Amino acid sequence: FESKLPGLEPSIFGVMNRISLDAGALNLAQGFPDFGADPELIRLHSEALEEGYNQYAPMSGIYSLREAIAEKTETLYGASYHPETEVTVTAGATQALYTAIAATIRPGDEVIVFKPAYDHYEPSVKAHGGVPVLLQLQGPDFRIDWVAFDAALTASTRMVIINTPHNPSGTVLSREDMEMLETRLRGTNILVLSDEVYEHLVFDGQEHQSVARFPGLRERAFVCASFGKTFHITGWKTGYCLAPELLMQEFRKIHEFAIFCVSHPAQRALKTYLENPDHYLELNDFMQRKRDLFLEAVASSRFTFTPAAGTYFQLLGYQDISEAPDTEFAETLARDKGLAGIPISVFNRNRQDNRQLRFCFAKKDETLKRAGEILSQV
Ligand code: PMP
Ligand code: GLN
Repeated sequence: FESKLPGLEPSIFGVMNRISLDAGALNLAQGFPDFGADPELIRLHSEALEEGYNQYAPMSGIYSLREAIAEKTETLYGASYHPETEVTVTAGATQALYTAIAATIRPGDEVIVFKPAYDHYEPSVKAHGGVPVLLQLQGPDFRIDWVAFDAALTASTRMVIINTPHNPSGTVLSREDMEMLETRLRGTNILVLSDEVYEHLVFDGQEHQSVARFPGLRERAFVCASFGKTFHITGWKTGYCLAPELLMQEFRKIHEFAIFCVSHPAQRALKTYLENPDHYLELNDFMQRKRDLFLEAVASSRFTFTPAAGTYFQLLGYQDISEAPDTEFAETLARDKGLAGIPISVFNRNRQDNRQLRFCFAKKDETLKRAGEILSQV
């Protein structure tokens, strides 16, 4: 039997979780909160179970939740998606991303991926015979080099994957970046896969530049979002995909046979919870305060940083502390000092190592202060 993904290495999240657990370390590695979800949301989920929403939901998601998603998108980004034909509820953003790739990528299709990149995209593309074309972005601002982008476009380019706010760098794409992409893709049949799971975590008064805001991108895009990331419920594995009708038809052909439908009680709870926009609008301030608390706690350390503009990840550089490769530094920090982070080289092209670790600041204040104490003693 020939592997479809030869040489695929174990996920860095699994690796760091295991080291962290063995060492009894504070875990700021994998991206999930260490505080509970809103009790109101938990209550809504329990009520849905009690009320008997325990059988299959409709294939594309319950209609009222799709309506709520469409309304939110229209209000925030001025884009109208029809709940019947252009919105599908998925098992997290992961299943939305995978399904969009499975529905559209054929052997030999080239897919542009900006590095560092979340580790999902490349294996999913390769599993369908696609060829990832990797464009490395450089810190501290991780801006897209449009000359390199133009040079990477070929007759085989089928898709561009973007992720804003960006995991792992914590940067966001600007309106100008989106317009540059829109201009370049005009008149082509290149698709866009837009991973916007951190859409509600954008700081310092900036606005999230959803693909949905740009008609020339929207018409060719799958937009993927995550209730897990937005509402601190990563374990519920719920999210959604938005796409124009023709693309969504193809998406649903895969969705139907990969999963058919998503947790029914969770969808009931989310539908009611979305009725109050404060539930997502207040997240920017909530998480910005966490970022600032974490940065204050590391201000007197020897780590270097540019404050994250979005997401719940902060990169810290240890160039002034050690010359060790980042995987080794991350392991030593977890085992000897009791704090786990993610080495960034695993997300880079050719494992480029800038001696930076990623830390998740979606944590209780006391966890962030403790992490700051540990980092200040390194
Ligand atoms: N995309 C990015 C950039 C992420 O960080 C994550 C969460 N780890 C996902 C997708 C997956 O989201 P979900 O948990 O909803 O599947
Ligand atoms: N998205 C999360 C992160 O970047 C982890 C998800 C996963 O474990 N695959 O940390």
